[in-house]
Amino acid sequence: MDLTLSPQEQAFRDELRTWVEANHPGPEPDGDEAAFQFRIAWQRKLHEDGWAGVSWPTEYGGRGATLVEQAIFNEEMTRSRAPSLANVLALAMGGPTVIAHGTEEQRQRFLEPILSAEEIWCQGFSEPEAGSDLASLKTKAVKSNGGWAVTGQKVWTTFAHHAKWCMLVARTDQDVPKHKGLTYFLMDMKQDGVQTRPLVQITGEPEFNELFMEEAYIPDENVVGGVGNGWGVAITTLMHERATLAFGLQVQVKIALGQLMELVRERGLDADPLVRQRIGQLYVEAEVLRLNAYRGLTKIMKSGVPGPEGSLGKWHWSEVNQSLTEASMEIRGAEAPLTGSDDGADWAYRFLRARANSIEGGTTEILKNIVAERVLGLPRLR
Ligand SMILES: Cc1cc2nc3c(=O)[nH]c(=O)nc-3n(C[C@H](O)[C@H](O)[C@H](O)COP(=O)(O)OP(=O)(O)OC[C@H]3O[C@@H](n4cnc5c(N)ncnc54)[C@H](O)[C@@H]3O)c2cc1C
Repeated sequence: MDLTLSPQEQAFRDELRTWVEANHPGPEPDGDEAAFQFRIAWQRKLHEDGWAGVSWPTEYGGRGATLVEQAIFNEEMTRSRAPSLANVLALAMGGPTVIAHGTEEQRQRFLEPILSAEEIWCQGFSEPEAGSDLASLKTKAVKSNGGWAVTGQKVWTTFAHHAKWCMLVARTDQDVPKHKGLTYFLMDMKQDGVQTRPLVQITGEPEFNELFMEEAYIPDENVVGGVGNGWGVAITTLMHERATLAFGLQVQVKIALGQLMELVRERGLDADPLVRQRIGQLYVEAEVLRLNAYRGLTKIMKSGVPGPEGSLGKWHWSEVNQSLTEASMEIRGAEAPLTGSDDGADWAYRFLRARANSIEGGTTEILKNIVAERVLGLPRLR
């Protein structure tokens, strides 16, 4: 693992930094719809100048950047407090899945509108009775009219209310072992057979939804990776989810920790031995998170694909972020429940949003099982 940047990587970072300084659109407006439109405009701007999908191959509209450069991109975006990209699920997971398992026709059809944010994507995996145990999902697809008719329910579907396409895993064969009867589809969300209903989170935001399908139609050409191969394709999506986010997240923790230290100083608590111990512990954890993110990256560069170690980073990040936001609440004392703040660090919001960190993208218990079995090689649970 080499932590110094090569001259080419430094040049990449400097070019990006200059570009972001010149083009940063400022803080996001309030409100779900206004903020989302703002992120779409930001992603379009990035795409126009060749900065969306940086590590995607150039033949598919990406920049062909290395994984280290992708990591630098994520770090710089976080460091400059740039808005997130509107199509984050498609850029980080859907696009790479189509590149890995899709046909050439699918790549030509789907990749460009992902980069330009013309078509937003969501991920329809979880169901009311199949979250961690994804392979138990019940949403059913049956052959119909040169395609498939899909009936069932998904839940916690982030951005379903904005999405044109859904990465949908459905059961196409009831008579084989559960992992083998699944198929991965790209479902058009804009049809009568698909309905979404918002679910409001503890933060008050309707970030995710229930998703209902009643004989929704999917043509054969929107099957990704072949009928019955949905489990393997879905794993590709999940590995990308956990591995590629790690870099931006560790920088976010470092920035938040810096803000927390400011808060401690402002409150005159910097000489308090208990507060100092707490901050010291968080500092060590944030540093371990950073080094493990680099270690994961080195592994991906050697093997070419994200592996199960991505689970370690996601698990650790959720613990550190929750513990950091809890510390902020204690430090703010009686003011803790108040939302908003002068320094832009909305600690009450962050504390509430962090509760989801140990659930979204795989619960901590599931990630621990993956690390035990597939990273440490311990005996399988069952
Ligand atoms: C903010 C947010 C956004 C999300 N966005 C999406 C999205 O866009 N698309 C999507 O498909 N899903 C999404 N999800 C859903 C998420 O992937 C699931 O919530 C998660 O996989 C857990 O599934 P579950 O909620 O059904 O809980 P369950 O699987 O029912 O788990 C309940 C509890 O049991 C534990 N448990 C379950 N099985 C085991 C086991 N084998 N060993 C030990 N413990 C176990 C779990 O850790 C958990 O504590 C989102 C969730 C959140 C919070």
